[in-house]
Amino acid sequence: NKYKSGLEKTRSSFSTKLNDLVARYRKIDEEFFEDLEEVLIQADVGVMTVMDLIEELEMEAKRQNIKDAADLREVISEKLVEIYADEDNTAEAPVNMQSDGLTVFLFVGVNGVGKTTTIGKMAHQLKQQGKKVLLVAGDTFRAGAIEQLAVWGERAEVDVIKHNAGSDPAAVIYDGIQAAKSRGVDVLLCDTAGRLQNKVNLMNELSKVKRVIEREIPGAPHEVLLVLDATTGQNALSQAKTFSQATDVSGIVLTKLDGTAKGGIVLAIRKELKIPVKYVGLGEQMNDLEKFDPHAFVYGLFS
Ligand code: GDP
Repeated sequence: NKYKSGLEKTRSSFSTKLNDLVARYRKIDEEFFEDLEEVLIQADVGVMTVMDLIEELEMEAKRQNIKDAADLREVISEKLVEIYADEDNTAEAPVNMQSDGLTVFLFVGVNGVGKTTTIGKMAHQLKQQGKKVLLVAGDTFRAGAIEQLAVWGERAEVDVIKHNAGSDPAAVIYDGIQAAKSRGVDVLLCDTAGRLQNKVNLMNELSKVKRVIEREIPGAPHEVLLVLDATTGQNALSQAKTFSQATDVSGIVLTKLDGTAKGGIVLAIRKELKIPVKYVGLGEQMNDLEKFDPHAFVYGLFS
């Protein structure tokens, strides 16, 4: 289970605190719930989610007549999965991959969050599944970003369409689409720039790129994936708000979950933004990208 190793930091911190709590209280009472609330908030589960969870737990403890803190442990994980799933009744959000014809994914997010790495990992995995993949270096603002995507292209053994730094992002995306069409590509993965310093520019650039894709391929982009860095905690939440104002985000890729003890941010994102987490990054290597599975995630936090 990739989640188990990837969530090691969150799990060890969370379990240690939970075990301490259970050992300290034995019997559950109001103070127990207050301390539990604190432990969950420290794991970045998000205030709204924590409030709901505590309320559910108090009711469940009454309903099942649970008195021992140890017995409540199992209920906590069950309720966390339930709360996650409740948001739209489909706990596991499917990725919009066309079974026939070209699928286009647009990746957005601030520099440094792991956008290029995620595109590289996904290219590798799709290729392993027998799909023909093409990458487009749409972050034309930074020469380094173009270069880095090219490196990932080599690693994953897929082609990369790129222009010189400073050129029009919409033009390189256009070229990428034409190349994808003529080469019979199955999945086109488009990188974009992530400068948040100038929100108006960012919005204009993203909407221009999106318009080109929409015009050239009806129904595309099939996913607009916002990449967020889990180690930035609540900052990731505010980035998500900014980007969802700039463009229609269809899903989130949460990277670097392996590097944080605050993996609960996944639940906060779902609850507070109502955007499904579709993939998670659990390391720096090619295979460290997983489709998000709430059950595996929550149990990865506990077991
Ligand atoms: P970009 O600027 O958004 O394209 O970010 P990069 O893809 O260049 O990634 C920035 C750094 O984060 C690199 O050092 C990556 O190796 C690292 N990184 C990306 N995803 C993950 C992840 O899931 N886990 C860990 N530990 N590091 C990651």
